[in-house]
Amino acid sequence: MLHIGCHLSCSNGYLAMGEQAVSLGADTFQFFTRNPRGGAVKPFDVQDAQALVDFLAEHRFAPVLAHAPYTLNACAADEKIRSFAVRTMREDLERLAHIPGAMLNFHPGSHVKQGAEVGIALIAKMLDEVYTPELPTTVLLETMAGKGSEVGRSFGELRAIMDAAKAGDRLGVCLDTCHVYDAGYDIVGDLEGVLAEFDREIGLDRLRAVHINDSKNPIGSHKDRHERIGEGSIGLEAFTRIINHPALRHLPFYLETPNELPGYAQEIALLRGCYQEA
Ligand code: FE
Ligand code: FE
Ligand code: ZN
Repeated sequence: MLHIGCHLSCSNGYLAMGEQAVSLGADTFQFFTRNPRGGAVKPFDVQDAQALVDFLAEHRFAPVLAHAPYTLNACAADEKIRSFAVRTMREDLERLAHIPGAMLNFHPGSHVKQGAEVGIALIAKMLDEVYTPELPTTVLLETMAGKGSEVGRSFGELRAIMDAAKAGDRLGVCLDTCHVYDAGYDIVGDLEGVLAEFDREIGLDRLRAVHINDSKNPIGSHKDRHERIGEGSIGLEAFTRIINHPALRHLPFYLETPNELPGYAQEIALLRGCYQEA
């Protein structure tokens, strides 16, 4: 079975997201841990989180994915922004410890003229400050489009973060199809070659999730503008190969396309229809 869901708002609580996912034909979902463009967070409701955990088990969900806020920048030049990243990540991991199996995805950061090498070292340092053995959640580095000074624009940069962090062997990767295409990886014309490169640089065993988004722009444009599935430069044929690929077909897929809920339900149904049961 294809494990697929979309990005949902947690404004009505945790259990509500599980119920919403089921109503959309999904068996997983992604949500922001807090306001994505600020950092404000609602008080944590342990009972609601437990109700979601029970619901996920009952409905046999694939792992749900929490997304850290965009304002989290572990490699900012400003020390205050870096300590916000540490506090936020730790608090999110403490909350997610209540949802076994959930994973936390984050954008590695933007090095803002310090250079990628300094950025990578700062990201690894942040992870080492936050990531203690008592916090069980798997943290995922997201592949980035390479907009501005984003770190994580190549598989090699993600590998370098994993190598530099003490907790590196606990980290995984979330591959965003729009981002890697924007970064210059040809998942349309040469999916095999891209996955072989991922395996060489990082190891396919580290790939734990896929953000499934079409792109408004051609390969290599470093713009990061998501498009609806089949309406962008990646196209439905390429997505059909992606969701059915032996190295990917078991992974959870999360839509982050420009859609309201009915649009997400349609895309979930469309992709389920393109999935070949083994
Ligand atoms: Fe993201
Ligand atoms: Fe993404
Ligand atoms: Zn994006």
